[in-house]
Amino acid sequence: MALQFTPPADPVFTPDDEIAAINADPGFGEHFCDHMAIAHWNPDQGWHDAALVPYGPLPLSAGGAVYHYAQEIFEGLKAYRHADGSIWCFRPEANAARFASSATRMALPPLPVEDFVEGVRALVELDARWVPGGDEQSLYLRPFMIADEEYIGVRATRQATFAVIGTPVGVYFKGGVAPVDIWVCTDAGRVAPGGTGMAKCGGNYAASLLSQEIAHQHGCSQVLFTDAATHTWIEELGGMNFVCITAAGELVTPSLNGDILAGITRDSILKAAPRVGLTPVERPLSLEEVRTGITSGAITEIFACGTAAAIAPIGALLDESGEWRLPSASAGPKTLALREFLLDVQYGRRPDDFGWTQRIC
Ligand SMILES: *Cc1c(COP(=O)(O)O)cnc(C)c1O
Repeated sequence: MALQFTPPADPVFTPDDEIAAINADPGFGEHFCDHMAIAHWNPDQGWHDAALVPYGPLPLSAGGAVYHYAQEIFEGLKAYRHADGSIWCFRPEANAARFASSATRMALPPLPVEDFVEGVRALVELDARWVPGGDEQSLYLRPFMIADEEYIGVRATRQATFAVIGTPVGVYFKGGVAPVDIWVCTDAGRVAPGGTGMAKCGGNYAASLLSQEIAHQHGCSQVLFTDAATHTWIEELGGMNFVCITAAGELVTPSLNGDILAGITRDSILKAAPRVGLTPVERPLSLEEVRTGITSGAITEIFACGTAAAIAPIGALLDESGEWRLPSASAGPKTLALREFLLDVQYGRRPDDFGWTQRIC
């Protein structure tokens, strides 16, 4: 039977003026909305005890499995407020399907798609006042699942908790969509063939953080990872997919090779590419080809994409051996056109003929 995330009888909310003060400049992931959706699993009962409860700590023993063996997965999606005040999600079933496949890879119990979507919907409906209405603002939703069995023997957990929390987020790029410099990692691997690259799990992020620190030391905000075995092929950033636009009018992104996470933004951009006059291409893309392409002009624009920032223009690729910089210091026209297309659909400013958006309330 489908889960019902029952709201509290007497929900307590932050006063509206305090929410307004937070949403005037919410940052990213600093403030959390008043409630969270939660459900529990064990082999006997399956998924059960779904509820909306006040946001707060999850009780977890120091012997809880997730603390020791990182059996954990997560998702990221947003609730957008349209000009008429209604609130919408973007392709939540796609996040739900990916969550279930991440669960399978990490030996966690898959949560049915409809239960995932219902958890998100119920939380957004209850905490609708937290969905900001400003330019490029949204309520970022973070569904996740942890192994919380008190057991440190090594095997798949027999107890898990699913939760959804929400955090208001603002404009990702303060002061316009200025291209960022990216550090190319050619010494460490983030994921490896046969590993967990296709799962959205915390472990992949933990494995990326040292490289990100090194990137910061070189003045770069993000890391581009290459294949762990040969460092020849471009894979993706720590939490965003990688896209190039060519002078020949192609939108090229590395094909899903088992290491690369199947981004929903990536998929949406591949589908939207013809709308801005680009031919979508998924194929292996070598670091050498991209460097040469930047120098020769065969590659005209580069960006990273993911739910958090939508589309983030890239200005240059840097590593120990040099710097490959696109000629323009500002975002390219195709990058901006795709970004506008996507945001216009998400914020209800253009007809959603792909059927991607779903009204919550
Ligand atoms: C979440 C994530 C992305 C982006 O996926 P979206 O569904 O577009 O938000 C890309 N790469 C990695 C490694 C991720 O974890």
